[in-house]
Amino acid sequence: MPTDDHHLYSNFEYESALNVMDGVKQPQQVSNSYVERVKAARRKEPTVEELVSGILHGDRTMLSRAITLVESSLHDHQAKAQQVIERCLPYSGKSVRLGITGVPGVGKSTTIESLGCMLTAHNHKVAVLAIDPSSERSKGSILGDKTRMERLSVDPNAFIRPSPSAGSLGGVARKTREIILLCEAAGFDVIIVETVGVGQSEVAAHSMVDFFLLLQLANAGDELQGMKRGIMEMSDMIAINKAEIDMQRAELAAGHIRNALHLFPLPDSQWPVKVLLCSAYTELGLQEIWNNVMEYVAFTKANGYFYEKRRQQNLRILNETIERTLMDRFYNQEGMEERIKKASEDILDNKVSAYTAAEQLLGEALL
Ligand code: GDP
Repeated sequence: MPTDDHHLYSNFEYESALNVMDGVKQPQQVSNSYVERVKAARRKEPTVEELVSGILHGDRTMLSRAITLVESSLHDHQAKAQQVIERCLPYSGKSVRLGITGVPGVGKSTTIESLGCMLTAHNHKVAVLAIDPSSERSKGSILGDKTRMERLSVDPNAFIRPSPSAGSLGGVARKTREIILLCEAAGFDVIIVETVGVGQSEVAAHSMVDFFLLLQLANAGDELQGMKRGIMEMSDMIAINKAEIDMQRAELAAGHIRNALHLFPLPDSQWPVKVLLCSAYTELGLQEIWNNVMEYVAFTKANGYFYEKRRQQNLRILNETIERTLMDRFYNQEGMEERIKKASEDILDNKVSAYTAAEQLLGEALL
């Protein structure tokens, strides 16, 4: 036995267990080189192979890095992102995609936090994404600022990603759709897409989810005010949040909305839209909301609507991608900006008609 060890063992019998004993010396270079290798792996740009394998093993770092590629506007990053998505595609699609909308302040973040924690406690893996075309992460937009989801953001079974930063709504929507696929491949079985209740972002969110939940407040008498008919028609459920403040008022508001919904025909899903009360604070109604989502999924899978909707959503991606690619190719042609400027001047000078000028430009660019 080496002397060092002998010293250690011989002292053992005489010294109190409270004394700190020398630990066994570790060969320094092994641990150092391991740490270095891990650091180097983090620094270097992972290959498509590493990203895909990481994602399929539920590695959040690799998932985040792949999402960063999806969000990048660099051509190389985009090309790599597409390869990763293509490889992840067969492993995607197995989640419930839930959209949540409502005006700012209605309690979307708080509800997602409570609902998300409830779901992770039941062994679900929850990814929270957002669509907010006005978002600029550095400026801390409403949806970009997810620090409010304090419990969920540290939950190992949850993954929260703010909206891809400002760009056209189409661009943000496309990126979010791709991020959904990656999250699904990484094993997230509930995807929540939050969108701010203004403008066209609901339409975009609706086009990528299975179930659309509209949150409302019980504002005495004017529940229907400011509630666009389109949003009501898109919703698969309407929940009156903050109901615990005044249950009676919330029930009254729910009644008004139920009456208004009676005037609408049954949606294509054949699913009668429910209006219920909830509170992100007291968790009132949250289990009911989730049960309703699951019932909807079972119901629409049985009547085929679930699959048909996803097929239609996919076809929409095809059309959108063709349109976007054509537009990009057209506008990114060398000298196109000047040519359009020249054509505009000619049109204004009545030298050429707008139709002829457009046809000439299109012909030159897309031949
Ligand atoms: P968002 O803008 O729709 O995401 O709304 P937030 O989740 O940020 O909530 C807006 C405010 O409403 C915050 O101060 C929340 O604490 C509060 N809030 C959210 N849910 C409830 C609820 O169920 N009851 C009550 N009383 N307040 C709530």
